[in-house]
Amino acid sequence: MSRYTGPRCKICRREGTKLFLKGERCFTDRCALDRRNYGPGEHGQRRARISEYRVQLREKQKVRFNYGVSETQFKRYYEIAKRKKGITGENLLLLLERRLDNIVYRMGFASSRSEARQLIGHGHIAVNGRKTDIPSFMVKEGDQIEVREKGKKFEFVKTALENAGQRGIPEWLEVDEDGMKGKVKTLPERDDLPMEVDETLIVEFYSK
Ligand code: SF4
Repeated sequence: MSRYTGPRCKICRREGTKLFLKGERCFTDRCALDRRNYGPGEHGQRRARISEYRVQLREKQKVRFNYGVSETQFKRYYEIAKRKKGITGENLLLLLERRLDNIVYRMGFASSRSEARQLIGHGHIAVNGRKTDIPSFMVKEGDQIEVREKGKKFEFVKTALENAGQRGIPEWLEVDEDGMKGKVKTLPERDDLPMEVDETLIVEFYSK
């Protein structure tokens, strides 16, 4: 399955949680979920029968849409997580968190992960001084991330940085707002992730 390109607010309404997919709008009273906190479509307000499978599927989809990855990529992360030492569900979330598009978003250089992907894809981000145009690039502890010269002039980058305070910069990252650069101080741990998710449900989903 390829990446979802339909209306993003519908995803939040379907999952019943704010996934912050539309940048600054998500923090205003124009948030679709705040205004209509029920599923999208004609039968959105109908109470659906909730099977175990459905609960697991929805948890998986919530995380997948949050990070903006395709089903194929998500499954690949799951397989890597399973092979790593430790708890598979936690490994999965921490791998997703280390994606460059997520880091650019968390550092405040973009107002959403999709905007971060565009910035990276167009060559406006450097990692350790080298242009890196792969949104799925995995950052490591100590990596330096920087908006390149042309990107520093973009209004949407400046606006994103101004508004980043609203969602807060995680403690495991260090950001120099004036220089539009930052450092991965340490890799995140499970407790550092703000999203409410029960990753064991995702592991159960794939374990069938
Ligand atoms: Fe989700 Fe943001 Fe749309 Fe609200 S505005 S429903 S948080 S994408």
